[in-house]
Amino acid sequence: MLTATDHRRDRLGLNYIYPVVSRRAGGLSIGINLNTNNACNWRCIYCQVPGLWRGKAPDVDLQTLAHELNSVLTDILQGDFCSRYQLPAASDSLRDIAISGNGEPTNSGVFAQVVELIGSTAGEFGLLNKIKIVLITNGSQIYRPSVKNGITRLSQINGEVWFKFDSATTAGLRSINNTGVPVARLRRNLETAAKLCPTWIQTCVFALDGRPPAVAAQELYLQFISSLMENRIPLKGILLYGIARPSQQPEASRLTRLPADWLAQYAARLRSTGIEVKVSV
Ligand code: SF4
Repeated sequence: MLTATDHRRDRLGLNYIYPVVSRRAGGLSIGINLNTNNACNWRCIYCQVPGLWRGKAPDVDLQTLAHELNSVLTDILQGDFCSRYQLPAASDSLRDIAISGNGEPTNSGVFAQVVELIGSTAGEFGLLNKIKIVLITNGSQIYRPSVKNGITRLSQINGEVWFKFDSATTAGLRSINNTGVPVARLRRNLETAAKLCPTWIQTCVFALDGRPPAVAAQELYLQFISSLMENRIPLKGILLYGIARPSQQPEASRLTRLPADWLAQYAARLRSTGIEVKVSV
């Protein structure tokens, strides 16, 4: 049975495609993993990718990817996939196709071609505008022209960008995401994404060594969101979520879930800036 806590990407024995029940999508999501080598340019301390290492996505065999996507969609829409995995009918359960893998997908040299391929395949199966096509990204590569092209195309196929943003300070990005990217650059990338395609900010919150995010860090995050709202950056909102599955990083034992009311109260404060906030505990 597929469950919201079972996100094994090799479940069907395919190279690039992995169906999961996603709590954030609220149903069945077909994941596309371009980082089959478990390489990412960041190392978030809550990252659930086993064997994560710093590097680039490998070459992608687009023909194999197209074949796998076709056969999984055929199985879900015309075969017995949903009954095999005890899911409601595909028309009720299939929510999205998500470009989200074991690393940063926009590091792939064929990211824009992959978006094109998803759009044409979704069109062939009559899924365009019926399901979302979601890009889950750390946003670090959105300044690159080829990535911007891919995101522009995404906006034409009912796409959304889910842009990871865990801290409003460069020091916070360094300690949570192990990246040296300055927050000002990430903000520019976020604004670019939001102008090209519907974009949600995705923020993970957790307790580190038993302590929730510092009050000062919360205030700076709130100010950051207020400033985006005042500048009328066209964001869809914030997806605020806690840790659902264990981190595979050395910091794992230091991380714990925050109580649901902590997230609810933080979400309420964020909503006071005028932004929509969806919470997944
Ligand atoms: S950006 Fe995503 S894949 Fe990369 S380290 Fe962070 S959580 Fe893991």
